[in-house]
Amino acid sequence: MDIMPRDFGLEHNEWRKGQKEAIILATEQCNKEGGFLFLELPTGVGKTAIPTALSKNNNVLALVQTLSLLDQYEKEYKFDIVKGRQEYPCVLKEKVVSWRLNYNKEPTAADCHFSDPRDCMQSSNCPYIIAKDKAARSTRAACTYKYASLSDVMRDRKGVLVLDEAHLAGHELLSLAEFFITSEQIKEFNLPDFPFYYYGAGGSGDMIDMKTRARVVIWMNDCIKTIGNITVFDRMTEKGSKVARMLQYITCALDMVQDEKIDLFMKCGKIEQMNTAGLFGNVDYGSKKRMYISIKPLYVSRIAWRLFGKKDTTILMSATIGNPDPLAKELGISDYRFETFDHPIPKVKRPVFDLGCPKMTYKNISDAPGIQNAQATLIYNFIKGLPKKWRGIILTSSYQKVETLKSLLKERLNGRIIIGSANGKSVTSRVDEFIDSDMEGAIAIDTIQGWGTGLDFRGDKARFVIVAGIQQPNPRDKFDMARISRAGGRKYAQWTTYNSV
Ligand code: SF4
Repeated sequence: MDIMPRDFGLEHNEWRKGQKEAIILATEQCNKEGGFLFLELPTGVGKTAIPTALSKNNNVLALVQTLSLLDQYEKEYKFDIVKGRQEYPCVLKEKVVSWRLNYNKEPTAADCHFSDPRDCMQSSNCPYIIAKDKAARSTRAACTYKYASLSDVMRDRKGVLVLDEAHLAGHELLSLAEFFITSEQIKEFNLPDFPFYYYGAGGSGDMIDMKTRARVVIWMNDCIKTIGNITVFDRMTEKGSKVARMLQYITCALDMVQDEKIDLFMKCGKIEQMNTAGLFGNVDYGSKKRMYISIKPLYVSRIAWRLFGKKDTTILMSATIGNPDPLAKELGISDYRFETFDHPIPKVKRPVFDLGCPKMTYKNISDAPGIQNAQATLIYNFIKGLPKKWRGIILTSSYQKVETLKSLLKERLNGRIIIGSANGKSVTSRVDEFIDSDMEGAIAIDTIQGWGTGLDFRGDKARFVIVAGIQQPNPRDKFDMARISRAGGRKYAQWTTYNSV
């Protein structure tokens, strides 16, 4: 008798092409060998079915990059999910009332003032604790890469780890590990002044040597001493909550800086114009010149254990792996198995066209700025040849290029561009805005980061995508160049570029 999806606990009746084979293969890996399995599964195979099916007989934790994908795991595949604390409201009545009154704000679990939240008399009703405990006990749990890298419970779980959109794991780990602090924050939290205002030749940053590392450690310890003695009463206030988060942030960074096995790159500089989303929410630093220090690891392999932890089997799924070697090396995986599956839709039904644009490199644009207009014209001519009601997406590699393309296409596309700049909104909300709109012929112009993978534009939501630019290492960025000059760095950079589409 044929094996059916329901035999694996899946709620659909028919297999998609390649799905059954992929599940059988992943099951064998878990049952026999354990270790690492790279699975290249094209869009349309239904990748989420794999961790779902494995959870029938294994303790599975799936990692995703975005909250919208996490919600999809919960809604469509009944995963027990846990998000970051800031996504859950605090339900301690006195605190909620006090915050509304004093700060006109709703406290979240990120503002929790208890060192051990179980000491709270509302802990049994606390939405964050409920979600966290449920996910920790569940055999079908999911969270973000960020949550997993910060949570001891998720790291120490045994069983099967499934990395969704695994090609993004390296980038995700690098950005999660970065320590970034501004002079505004130094002032706001009354921290000791920066130990450096300038680092590396021409101020472009450099690898941290032992002497510098020691100075950074002393400075971080001084910061911790300065803000470390906040009481539980301080923590109940908005300011105290922020201090507690900063304390945790510096403490985590100190762990990284003290670990001499982790090679670190440091840069100090002036913030010209920067939007950053992180621990402290979206911060618009505007155009006034302020200082920052950024410290980040050079090798992902030294921090990848934060995800893999004690898992018996790790399955890395992605629609675009190609040669898995560069990614395996980047993540410090020496021994692995790789399997790839054919695309369920024949090539003829998913055509790829070369519009014949020149390469939009920094050098080419500087030498001949007119090529941006030439590119816009080619894009416009292509769109003009499609049915007018088709919706689509144009992706490029920076916000500046998004703005340029928008201004060059605005009049020609006559009101069809509904997303065309960040406008202080997150990528997720821009994607949602595009999906929620029913406008015929709507076009989004945005950066490839965030829109490039893992999104589901069902039906007619997006009939075409134009890749107007892909991210390449910046030859003027010393960190990018330091990463390229590592053994295997250039191969990984090329691999990343291939996978960003
Ligand atoms: S445990 Fe913390 S976040 Fe949860 S209800 Fe109590 S005070 Fe609020």
